[in-house]
Amino acid sequence: MFTKMLIGQGFVEGQGEAEVLYAPATGDVIMDLPEASPAQVNAAVAAATAAFPAWALTPPAERSARLLRVADGIEREAETLARVESLNTGKPYHLVLADEIPAVADCFRYFASAARNLHGPVAGEYMAGHTSMLRRDPVGVVAGIAPWNYPLMMAAWKLGPALAAGNTCVIKPSENTPLSLLHLGGILGDCLPAGVVNIVLGRGMSVGQQLLDHPDIAMVSLTGDIATGRKVIAAAARSVKRTHLELGGKAPVIVYDDADIDAVVQGVRNFGYYNAGQDCTAACRVYAHEKIYDRLVADLTSAVSSIRFAQAEDAVNEMPPLISARQRSRVAAFVERAAELPHIDITTGGKMHDGKGFFYEPTVIAGALASDEIVQREVFGPVVSVTRCADMDAVIQDVNASAYGLASSVWTGSMQRGMEAAARLRYGCTWVNTHFMLVNEMPHGGFRQSGYGKDLSLGAVEDYTVARHVMVKWG
Ligand code: NAD
Repeated sequence: MFTKMLIGQGFVEGQGEAEVLYAPATGDVIMDLPEASPAQVNAAVAAATAAFPAWALTPPAERSARLLRVADGIEREAETLARVESLNTGKPYHLVLADEIPAVADCFRYFASAARNLHGPVAGEYMAGHTSMLRRDPVGVVAGIAPWNYPLMMAAWKLGPALAAGNTCVIKPSENTPLSLLHLGGILGDCLPAGVVNIVLGRGMSVGQQLLDHPDIAMVSLTGDIATGRKVIAAAARSVKRTHLELGGKAPVIVYDDADIDAVVQGVRNFGYYNAGQDCTAACRVYAHEKIYDRLVADLTSAVSSIRFAQAEDAVNEMPPLISARQRSRVAAFVERAAELPHIDITTGGKMHDGKGFFYEPTVIAGALASDEIVQREVFGPVVSVTRCADMDAVIQDVNASAYGLASSVWTGSMQRGMEAAARLRYGCTWVNTHFMLVNEMPHGGFRQSGYGKDLSLGAVEDYTVARHVMVKWG
């Protein structure tokens, strides 16, 4: 297993404080892994700074070719990467291998092509006797700070566009889940010039904060909690750094009375509990029209109670544990507070799994009111609330007033209703009659406190560039 950080051209052990890594599926300790010392963080930033001028001027075709080699390396080592990710996050191995690793490889492949396909206004004589042209140049050294829910994929979402655009990177995985990125470091080290990507381990309060405050970091890209996003903005305000924030989500699932209820039930079972709901786009709060509410709650309860998890035979598992004992206690506390309300009915689940690992039972909370905490706040666990609604226009207004604005879905048999709702919802993504599907070609990012900045798509490459005007006087 790779346990060393990538700094410049070398793989090195951290010299800072050790962090204990747990296997969430069993609760066992995997290992102690030391974080980067302040001097090592400085060395990583220095390596990225030194590598920047040459990488920025590397022709897009060559940057593209190198990113394609990274994608090939990921596919070649897919099984090992999936094993490592599965161990460190507790996710069923077969799901990581089938769903996540191909998406990570495709992310590098997409951004390899994007590197060669940036567009802008045509050069021209916008002032007589002068030719103006647009450049899109890289920002500089980008600090990427990744979360624990999709450790490898979130790192890829940052590295792909940043490298395609010609930036160099220092990336920090979550202190809970560094192992897959360390393994990717071996592939990146083989495919990229020294210093173009550097990987440092550490906690947010130490290594993360040092990156935020570092004068040679030009841009910080965070996927994480809203509270962490505020810290990034506060640090960036001191040094006027560019920021790219993908923060939490609380995706509404709006079900009209003409929806295909079987499809809704299947969709929420699949997309509300995938990765145990530790997903910023999870289908976690259902608003159901009163005409179909009772059937939806009954069918969803029965479907969710059949989700398989914590089985010795990993190949049958559909849902992982939560990432940590702490996260599980947080989820349990949300459900306990909801259960104290007289109108709440927990129709399945509602407690910690009795056994090894940090599992929490897949849970349906019926009878929730739109104003309840369980509907308003991100739980990040296998917990879906269902709210009975009469006025679907009011639902749209209500969810548009939510603190979160990342993803949403609308379920209806009427194309008109679907299109109208999609036009009115102020969320980064709206799905009609599905949920959760992302593609590398389309942007992903939020409104309001879900953050700003786009992941995926050409929009992400633009986010990691600066538009520049070059004007040449003829005579
Ligand atoms: P987190 O904010 O606790 O940690 C994210 C990263 O930030 C970690 O690497 C952590 O070490 C680092 N960090 C923490 N404090 C820091 C500081 N002071 N300075 C610098 N870095 C610091 O989030 P998490 O618990 O790892 O991830 C879950 C959160 O991420 C959820 O809120 C979820 O919604 C969000 N998320 C959002 C998206 C999206 O695309 N919008 C995707 C995945 C996860």
